[in-house]
Amino acid sequence: MQEKINELKKKIAEAIKDVKSSDSLFQIKMKFLGKSGEVSELMKGMRDVPKEKRPEMGMIINALKAWAEEQFGNLEKTVKEMERKIQYAAETIDVTLPGNTVKKGAYHPNTLVKRELISIFAGMGFTVFEGPEIETDYYNFTALNTPADHPARDMQDTFYITEEMLLRTQTSAGQIRVMEKQKPPIKILSPGKVYRSDDDATHSPMFSQMEGLVVDKGITLCDLKGMLDEFARKIFGDGVKTRLRPSYFPFTEPSVEVDVSCFECGGKGCRLCKGTGWIEVLGAGMVNRHVLEGCGIDPDEYSGFAFGMGIERIAMLKYGINNMKLLFEGDTRFLRQFKG
Ligand SMILES: [Zn+2]
Repeated sequence: MQEKINELKKKIAEAIKDVKSSDSLFQIKMKFLGKSGEVSELMKGMRDVPKEKRPEMGMIINALKAWAEEQFGNLEKTVKEMERKIQYAAETIDVTLPGNTVKKGAYHPNTLVKRELISIFAGMGFTVFEGPEIETDYYNFTALNTPADHPARDMQDTFYITEEMLLRTQTSAGQIRVMEKQKPPIKILSPGKVYRSDDDATHSPMFSQMEGLVVDKGITLCDLKGMLDEFARKIFGDGVKTRLRPSYFPFTEPSVEVDVSCFECGGKGCRLCKGTGWIEVLGAGMVNRHVLEGCGIDPDEYSGFAFGMGIERIAMLKYGINNMKLLFEGDTRFLRQFKG
């Protein structure tokens, strides 16, 4: 029996010699001291020992059990201590190392300009209306006094989805949606993406417009001019003047192109204004009688003006960006320069 005990002691000592983790230590402990472990089996073997020898045997086995438990207990302490050290080492922070810098995003110049425009016009009492980007031919053209055979349709290369559905070519489509539902006074701003099959340094197949519409009693071109003067000063700086040139849009009559005096050279002539002293910024005009009538608004009682500008164009002018592509490429080296 003593031989068996010694053998078991040797076995245990051998088993725990190279233990490095508390997990494997636990496994070994169970192998010897667990319910059906080797030491427990020895206990069960007591049944076959003659009665008078049992107390002596019991003592020997208990001594072995106590010895084994002590061995495991001591080792457990050592292993736990070792594991803690490893964990601490892994969690060590070297406060002298330079920190990881988090790259902060910035607003896109389009977003900055759009927000600035909305804020300027909101200050004049405009509210924002956003129409759908997929429009019907009716809202995008017909209701804007541009029937199917109208030559003005050729001015805009339209992406048609079906015969009737298209990607809107102008935010003006939103004007009709508002006028159909709302009676004057109307004062809305309609920003959004528009689509035309056009692609070069100053044109993109997708770009953003900001449309404005005012309808009320006694609205004249003077109101438009006054409002645009205020807008130009706020966005391009004090001292900037506006001028109106005759133009043509089917949905306004009269129609005008609006120029601002060059904020780069003050009107003397430079590269930005191509020597003219003026920069074209938007199109506008008095809402055509036919358009008002079509929306159920009496053109003898009410009048209004509308204006529309390209947000990218304003952003390019304001920040001196010479290629529209830069606004769509998403190059962070370019975008990082704009902080709003
Ligand atoms: Zn100039």
